[in-house]
Amino acid sequence: MLKRKGIAIILFAVIIVLGSLILKFQEISIKADDKNSIQDYKIKKKRISNMTDNELTIFLSGYTSLYNSLDEQKKQLMFRYFKSRIDQFDSYGKTDVPYSYTLYISFAKEIDEAVKLYYGEEYTLLNTYSPDYIYRDLPQYNELVYASSELINYNCYAYAVDRTLYAIEPGFSFNNNSLDIQNETALSLATYVKTDLQSSYFNKNCVKITTICPTDSIFTEGKSAICVRMGIDANNDPAYHFMKLQSDGWYHKPGLGGILRYLQPLSSSAIWNGEYYSIIYGMWMVDSVVYSGTIYYIIYKSNHAYQWIYTGNNYHSGHYHYYQKRKICPDCGTIDETIYEKVPCSGPPCPNVIGKGFINYE
Ligand SMILES: [Zn+2]
Ligand SMILES: [Zn+2]
Repeated sequence: MLKRKGIAIILFAVIIVLGSLILKFQEISIKADDKNSIQDYKIKKKRISNMTDNELTIFLSGYTSLYNSLDEQKKQLMFRYFKSRIDQFDSYGKTDVPYSYTLYISFAKEIDEAVKLYYGEEYTLLNTYSPDYIYRDLPQYNELVYASSELINYNCYAYAVDRTLYAIEPGFSFNNNSLDIQNETALSLATYVKTDLQSSYFNKNCVKITTICPTDSIFTEGKSAICVRMGIDANNDPAYHFMKLQSDGWYHKPGLGGILRYLQPLSSSAIWNGEYYSIIYGMWMVDSVVYSGTIYYIIYKSNHAYQWIYTGNNYHSGHYHYYQKRKICPDCGTIDETIYEKVPCSGPPCPNVIGKGFINYE
């Protein structure tokens, strides 16, 4: 009887020990689940980065008004942009915009708000983003000149032409910042820039577009120079970029990032990569965009330097010989007027008159 009681006590003890071990195990399991759910941002909703394309479209339509206002082609462009940066949005609630196209900039701001709305307060837990394309060492092609929070207000073109209130597009003086980047070339952008510079925003009348890289000797002539180039990103979507000439090299500002000095000479045969300094992340990064097209340089100053030039055209009529001359700015090629000037001539034949330089240029 005593023996049986002893066995029963031992069995009971074993059950207690096993039971508590099981409970302990369950406790660990619950803690692990808790931990996982925290890592998974306690989100009952599906994470944006796990959404299907269809769900992403519904998200964009439901949370951003700009997306809904776009035509189908632009919707697709913004969708590709959003999807390629979805890890940034999902982890950090906002993204860098290393491009200058203002539609990306406006769209990114809307998505910043949309992500906050979607995740609610939990979105602050997402602050763990570590993109794998960060340059963890020093930059390759640039040095950082200036980094400050106000730089996230304007883009490379605004920086290049020193009109830094907000991001502007080439042609902003007439196109209301509604550039259609998918239908542009670097040359068409350069011609829009020319129109902008000649507008009342800048009053730079003398503007020359060339593919020949200027040197800082232009500064002694009172001129400034910027350049524009186009490239494509990993989605095969176009981007443009500007640089501006300073006395010690070419300066630029990729998208909403920091101001950089380019450490290489400029040449259309050498690419620019997407290296930029992120103000948001406070570090060097490289976007997928590669600029490889022709670089167009835009050299400008306030006023033309008109000269009268003999065009070589002449003819004889009556007792006069007529010579064509032209009032032209040799810096930009702008022609102000073209006229004929007559001088007495006994010909024909008309000996020794052509090219003698007797025309009185004013
Ligand atoms: Zn001129
Ligand atoms: Zn003659």
